[in-house]
Amino acid sequence: MHLTIIGGGIAGLATAFYLKKKSKELGREIQYALLEREDRWGGQIATQSVDGFLIEGGPDLLLAQKPAGIQLCKDLGLGERLIPTNRERQRTFLVQNGKLVPFPEDFSLVPSKFWPLVTSPLFSPFGKLRMGLDLLIPRRKDEGDESLASFIRRRLGEEAVRVGGAMLAGIHSADAARLSMQSAFPMYVALEQRYGSLIKGVRAMKKKRPSASAAFQTLIGGLGEMVDTLTTRLDGDLRKGVAVASVRKVDDGFEVVAGDQVIETDAVVLATPAYVTADLVAGFAPELSHALREIRYVSTATISLAYRKSDVASQHDFEGFGFLSPRREGRRITACTWVSTKLNYRAPADGVLVRTFVGGAGREELVDLDDETLIAQSREELKDLMGLTAEPLFTRIFRWREGRPQFDVGHKDRVDQIEHLAEQVGNLYVTGSAYRGSAIPDCIAQAIDTVDRILARGMGA
Ligand SMILES: Cc1cc2nc3c(=O)[nH]c(=O)nc-3n(C[C@H](O)[C@H](O)[C@H](O)COP(=O)(O)OP(=O)(O)OC[C@H]3O[C@@H](n4cnc5c(N)ncnc54)[C@H](O)[C@@H]3O)c2cc1C
Repeated sequence: MHLTIIGGGIAGLATAFYLKKKSKELGREIQYALLEREDRWGGQIATQSVDGFLIEGGPDLLLAQKPAGIQLCKDLGLGERLIPTNRERQRTFLVQNGKLVPFPEDFSLVPSKFWPLVTSPLFSPFGKLRMGLDLLIPRRKDEGDESLASFIRRRLGEEAVRVGGAMLAGIHSADAARLSMQSAFPMYVALEQRYGSLIKGVRAMKKKRPSASAAFQTLIGGLGEMVDTLTTRLDGDLRKGVAVASVRKVDDGFEVVAGDQVIETDAVVLATPAYVTADLVAGFAPELSHALREIRYVSTATISLAYRKSDVASQHDFEGFGFLSPRREGRRITACTWVSTKLNYRAPADGVLVRTFVGGAGREELVDLDDETLIAQSREELKDLMGLTAEPLFTRIFRWREGRPQFDVGHKDRVDQIEHLAEQVGNLYVTGSAYRGSAIPDCIAQAIDTVDRILARGMGA
């Protein structure tokens, strides 16, 4: 049996890895090809080492609550290389009226501690009381989807939409008024249903959760270490720099066409962005193609700025993980991470590394500015908000055009339909960040599910 996986981001790589692992465990024989358009593997995972600094152009952390990411590291023999974020420096700030105001301690949408919330300047006395009403408001009866903004407004009030909405929507570079609660934050929906109150639910979960310092982890050498190790473990037909132009359905399988290469194959896994997948299947599955096109994407960029510590130490203390800058503040960056405070092994002893984020819902046009302007704008914002005027040693820009899938309200129904239509074609699978969760652990969990479905159909038996 022969399978072709298109797309060599984490979704495609993890599909190949678990296909090999699981088919071997079952004594099955499946040959596969993995095709990637770019001349490097990893897709949005983009790690670079520059003069003792370690730059992440895309993702930098694995959320431990979603275990598939940490598990893949362990399956690759990288368990010893995992590191947590630095616990003692956990403070994060929100830009409010042009100033950096700290989030209350232990605040992640829902206040789990009383005093830090009561003393926080982020909310008015009325806003704080309104959040407390969550303890009394009955759980929602309607099982349909709703937006993040509507969910927070209903449970915690308008001020929480302003603060918590900015924080959670930012994770998806999304607009809180459009982002699906069911697809993006199913755990909060489940907490409301189970405990009837988010505050009660979060308190109960805190007792079970790993300590906050282990909540996010990464690898000493960055997430690129995961990609490099994966590619050395794969023994299939791996081809980089091969852009698939179309997939044809033929009697006994598929033909995958890339330039003058035509691969005859029994099954296809599409681990490409949904709009690429839509183009690739358009010739034989127009309805599926149409459904895939309904998943919107937005563009973002990251700008890493490396400094000499002695140049910036007197300008800012970097005591915290960084700040978020909600859209209403009108800034040209959406967030900034103080990377070398948040994580060890990211800067030399005499260095400080900072990363700004640009674009996302409502601010996409900024991504198309030229490099010089993007850097100048980030530096102006850092000067204004942090007093940082020092000249960076170097900068790195990564643009992710149409890089962030948007889980609009109703997303789960769209994905159910997409999977149903792919199933009808037979031996055709879609996987990756556009569907059931976009974090790396979600992509890996979906890859494992795809492999299980392939093996359940008896491939290689
Ligand atoms: C700035 C940023 C920060 C993020 N931070 C985090 C984080 O800290 N933690 C986290 O868990 N997640 C984070 N994410 C999300 C996460 O990185 C992505 O959702 C995930 O890496 C996507 O993996 P994927 O394999 O689905 O897609 P991709 O990585 O996009 O891979 C798809 C691949 O398909 C290839 N391809 C496209 N067209 C073709 C074609 N025609 N033929 C062949 N190949 C093709 C592409 O070149 C690409 O390599 C972040 C994302 C961004 C952009």
